[in-house]
Amino acid sequence: MTPLRNLPSVDKLVQAVQRATDTDSLPRALVVQAARTELDATRAQLQAANGAATAAPPLEALVQQVQQRLEALTAPSLRPVINATGVIIQTNLGRAPLSAAARAAMQAVSLGYSNLEYDLAAGTRGSRTVHLSGIVQQLTGAEAALAVNNNAAAVYLVLLALAVGREVIVSRGQAVEIGGGFRIPDVLRQSGALLVEVGTTNRTYPRDYEQAINANTALLLRVHTSNFRLVGFVHETSLEAMAAVGRKHGIPVLDDLGSGSLLPTTPYGLAPEPLVQESIAAGADLVTFSGDKLLGGPQAGIIAGRADLIERLKKHPLARALRVDKTTIAGLEATLQAYLRGQALTEIPVWQMIGMPLAPLHQRATALAAQWQAAGIVAQVTTCASAVGGGSLPGETLPSVGVTVDPGAGHANRLAQALRMGAPAVVARIADDNLLFDVRTVLPEQDAALAQRVADVWQMIGKPAP
Ligand SMILES: *Cc1c(COP(=O)(O)O)cnc(C)c1O
Repeated sequence: MTPLRNLPSVDKLVQAVQRATDTDSLPRALVVQAARTELDATRAQLQAANGAATAAPPLEALVQQVQQRLEALTAPSLRPVINATGVIIQTNLGRAPLSAAARAAMQAVSLGYSNLEYDLAAGTRGSRTVHLSGIVQQLTGAEAALAVNNNAAAVYLVLLALAVGREVIVSRGQAVEIGGGFRIPDVLRQSGALLVEVGTTNRTYPRDYEQAINANTALLLRVHTSNFRLVGFVHETSLEAMAAVGRKHGIPVLDDLGSGSLLPTTPYGLAPEPLVQESIAAGADLVTFSGDKLLGGPQAGIIAGRADLIERLKKHPLARALRVDKTTIAGLEATLQAYLRGQALTEIPVWQMIGMPLAPLHQRATALAAQWQAAGIVAQVTTCASAVGGGSLPGETLPSVGVTVDPGAGHANRLAQALRMGAPAVVARIADDNLLFDVRTVLPEQDAALAQRVADVWQMIGKPAP
């Protein structure tokens, strides 16, 4: 006799689930669907067992499974993570955490209506581009600016508006892949612009650009090689020299900065990352940079430069498809205002983390280690190295302090997974069979939650046998 026949009907299972749970708030159809899916899965399992299974699971077990399905369905997929990896701008973890001012501004405009495209003084239709253009002008020296969905979109829009069917000259050393789906040659091809590579992988001179210019040249493109570094017999043409060539021939220069920064990274012992205002001063006609890398704001791409070129970008039909929404504009504006007020280092989390001295990190690591040791956890304060990340400053690290937790040989992955799966999720590094928690990227207000999660998970997994 097959155990399949012992399975309850969908109706019976739904009733049992409803008795066992407070599912009143859920539509009945959702509960029915979860019950049906669970019964189908169980039936498939029993059939696959091919007679080896002698009994169907008891009703209580099926009810529990359906409850889990319903919980998974109604829980958010996107949720907060405590970043203990020490990588400050982690693309997989959402890049820049936002400042309090940015969060407040985003909430303020999302609670109700706003003057997104409304001129309050005149009482007439306005433009969403006015909100950022003035402040970017002020901070970078550019004549005008436009924000779009991200920096990839920024580069794409410039190519579409200025270079379709025409040639774009790029140094061979800068025809690079920036990461997941952003390869300069592919982006150019997709946009309909024609890539003209000049120079060699390691050396490109102003005359290389100049010799390639013809009547069909639309742009000179410089790409910041964000995520790798060439050393040795290397010569890059300076932006000043490119701009001089461009001016002489009436051809605009686009500088794709990637991260771009408004503040120098050198005071922290890091290599220089190009500054947006320096690119403008060096003569770039347009620069593009991300909102959520070193700028420390929400995801966006900012295009700054000559007013006549920005006007052409705004009029391109794709500008509408790439435009940013009100919350992004509000978050960007508040982030940029922190720079204007001279408060970026103290207010913007990315810069707080970069500038965090070792003493407070050591203090927090010591407190975490003490709490864990008191809970019987094998924990130790350690020095470690943080990275800026976000495809910027390759190979550069900041000295940091963390805590290692030793769950016993072969248990690090299990502990790490349990930490990732709970709430709030914790992502740590695994090194030498230990977990390493770099305190630099943990927001100070998350210390208590981190301490609790590790203690709970250690308890749950049980102290592993030595
Ligand atoms: C990161 C980066 C991009 C892509 O920027 P997103 O904001 O991720 O779209 C493009 N170019 C360079 C040089 C970059 O570093």
